[in-house]
Amino acid sequence: MKIVVLIKQTPDTESVIRIAEDGKSIVTDGLKWIINPYDEFALEAALRLKEKDGGTLSVLSLGPQRVVNSMITALAMGADDATIIDDPALDGADALGTATILSAAIEKIGPDIVLCGSRAIDCDQAQTGAMVAEILGWPHLPVAVAIEADQRRVTIERRIEGGTMSLRATLPALVTVGGSHSVWNPRYASLPGIIKAKKKPLAVRRLSDLGLDPAKFGLAGAKISVASLEKPPQRSAGRIVEGGDAREKARELARALHEDSGAF
Ligand SMILES: Cc1cc2nc3c(=O)[nH]c(=O)nc-3n(C[C@H](O)[C@H](O)[C@H](O)COP(=O)(O)OP(=O)(O)OC[C@H]3O[C@@H](n4cnc5c(N)ncnc54)[C@H](O)[C@@H]3O)c2cc1C
Repeated sequence: MKIVVLIKQTPDTESVIRIAEDGKSIVTDGLKWIINPYDEFALEAALRLKEKDGGTLSVLSLGPQRVVNSMITALAMGADDATIIDDPALDGADALGTATILSAAIEKIGPDIVLCGSRAIDCDQAQTGAMVAEILGWPHLPVAVAIEADQRRVTIERRIEGGTMSLRATLPALVTVGGSHSVWNPRYASLPGIIKAKKKPLAVRRLSDLGLDPAKFGLAGAKISVASLEKPPQRSAGRIVEGGDAREKARELARALHEDSGAF
């Protein structure tokens, strides 16, 4: 089976995010970048499919030069080859532009199945996977927490309110991966994996390599633009409930919850 995993590089969850002077973008200097955690889950799911049935696993990302580090991590975890689409025309691309470019690259690879995160933790639009499936005309199985596939079909499990839903589709298909670290427990890159990664193919492509017109992408081609970015309001300081003993403190807490609305 030929598998493609889409990888987006995002700021580390522990990064301190600063809004740039334009009020529409973030300051990227000094940020630590990681593989979007949901894409790490997708990669782990793909590695398990490959271990079970064989085949090849390619990783694909749209982004600047720094994305190389995340792709090397993916290769060290067990992916066979990596492609990065890096083009100056990509600045300000919206989700549809991103999905259109990823779809063109996927068509060139010709996989049986594409796995990607259900959402990216930075812009968190949860649109890209669904859009890629739509553009390719493939079935889209959303927010999987378990995946099984053979040469013909893929079956996923997803959590719904009070239960589990199982969905099945004929390949080729796209699965967006949800869940959490405890569901997927993505592997760490091993030392032999890190050494092997240096010899695995890593290609960098421009839009023109995919037969796409750069003038139609980036800010110029975006149907959605970021109007503004704002940080959440500062939280007020916590309050320690005073009182002699637990009973007194509980009484004061109950009073404060009733009477000091807005204080918490
Ligand atoms: C500086 C800056 C400017 C921006 N300007 C605009 C703008 O003007 N208009 C606008 O609409 N958006 C803009 N964006 C948002 C950007 O285009 C989004 O990252 C993109 O739309 C994807 O959405 P998302 O990050 O919410 O991914 P989601 O849709 O939440 O991602 C789901 C999955 O899709 C895959 N995926 C997403 N992006 C990539 C990628 N690049 N490479 C590989 N796989 C990917 C991953 O597997 C990911 O887990 C801007 C972002 C930045 C950082």
